[in-house]
Amino acid sequence: MTRSLPPTPTHPLTAIRHPTTPAPGSVLGATPYATENAEAYEATGGYAAAVTPDELLHHLDACGLRGRGGAGFPAAVKLRAVREHGRRGRGSGTRGERAAGAGTPVVVANGEEGEPGSVKDRWLLRARPHLVLDGLVHAAAVTGAAHGYVYLSDPEAARRVREALTERVPPLPIQVVETAAGYVAGEETAVVRRIDGGPALPTAKPPRPFERGVGGAPTLVANVETLARIALVAARPDLREPIARSTLITLSGGGVVPELTEVPYGVPLRALAAAHGTPAPAGALMGGLFGGLVDARALDLPLEPGALAAAGTALGCGAIRFLTADVCPVGAAAEAVGHLAAESARQCGVCVSGTAAISDALDRLTSGSAEPDTAERLHRWARGLPGRGACGLLDAAAGLAGSLLRAFPAQVRAHLDGPCPVCRAHAPGRGPHRLVVPVPAVGTPSPTPPAEPMAAVLEGTP
Ligand code: SF4
Repeated sequence: MTRSLPPTPTHPLTAIRHPTTPAPGSVLGATPYATENAEAYEATGGYAAAVTPDELLHHLDACGLRGRGGAGFPAAVKLRAVREHGRRGRGSGTRGERAAGAGTPVVVANGEEGEPGSVKDRWLLRARPHLVLDGLVHAAAVTGAAHGYVYLSDPEAARRVREALTERVPPLPIQVVETAAGYVAGEETAVVRRIDGGPALPTAKPPRPFERGVGGAPTLVANVETLARIALVAARPDLREPIARSTLITLSGGGVVPELTEVPYGVPLRALAAAHGTPAPAGALMGGLFGGLVDARALDLPLEPGALAAAGTALGCGAIRFLTADVCPVGAAAEAVGHLAAESARQCGVCVSGTAAISDALDRLTSGSAEPDTAERLHRWARGLPGRGACGLLDAAAGLAGSLLRAFPAQVRAHLDGPCPVCRAHAPGRGPHRLVVPVPAVGTPSPTPPAEPMAAVLEGTP
């Protein structure tokens, strides 16, 4: 069954579709339009861990929970690395090891959501701040941290988190640190730099924060959805597999209302598109901007990080923008890279020149003023630029160019002769406005019936 999601007077922004997973193991929860207070959270089993820190680490290892900020790194490995560096810093290592990571560990809940097509992190902090704080407290217990931070740019989320901290005082000091929104502001070294009082800009690696982070201490910078899933595993280790193998996703594009939902891994992208209201998509922009473009054939892939990576794309932060047949993929790439070029922190020369060059080449394709060797130059940049900047922004721009050439070669060739009718009629927009998905309204329980659960919509899919 497919259906579109028209805006309602009460929820004119992004809609929320109920989860497929049972409520105890769901991040979206039973009342996603309202902020959950401490009492309601405790009634779900929150703040009452069923496991010790070592047992939690074992469960996270066993279920293979991966980070939800974009890179998908195993959560248990990251926690263990911070704990080990903290132990060395406290005197069990050599003098050199102590110097490399001195200090008691620090834990950071990273809620800075730079991908313009993603809303899950800001929704989570606005709607379920206690779930995130509970996860942060568990992460502190595992790593031995004595201080925590919640890092974000959304003022509304900051207000809800501060309220939650006064509602239920945590066992370690937790500060809220606000930053200006930006594509690179949530990169882990930018997070550390901002908390230490500097600008929210990435630094060269190594050292990584788990070695030397906030104040020089080993630091866990964990995405807020990752922490939410850690809290859920701690409360319900018997549900560790479905908790680790479900994910929040933001669906947009297709001319229908954007949607935040939670689905299990394995659902075909095509089924998600149909459920969202785009029954015949021509492709998709994957992982926010980080997974690049895929064509219609790739939509038979399952929503699963490993399968997507093997196919040359990425789930990233879980933001997927479906492209309808009347959207030009060259124009979509131009718009996305234009956004990245505008968001470059302008610290690395290769990023400044590289993103500008890719953006200019794609713009020229859309306007019909490209040189004959534009495709070759895009190929060269897509191969040669990744890994040369201090953060992933340059990689994302190069990846978008490469994915366009792989997925839509005929359209690129055609644009060498002149703009397509879509680009001629609607020049790709500049700035983030067309890519931005608004955060769902949170705070007022819905007086209207909730959307049909995603489980029902996806019935019959693997
Ligand atoms: S790669 Fe680009 S965005 Fe990243 S730190 Fe360097 S200049 Fe800034």
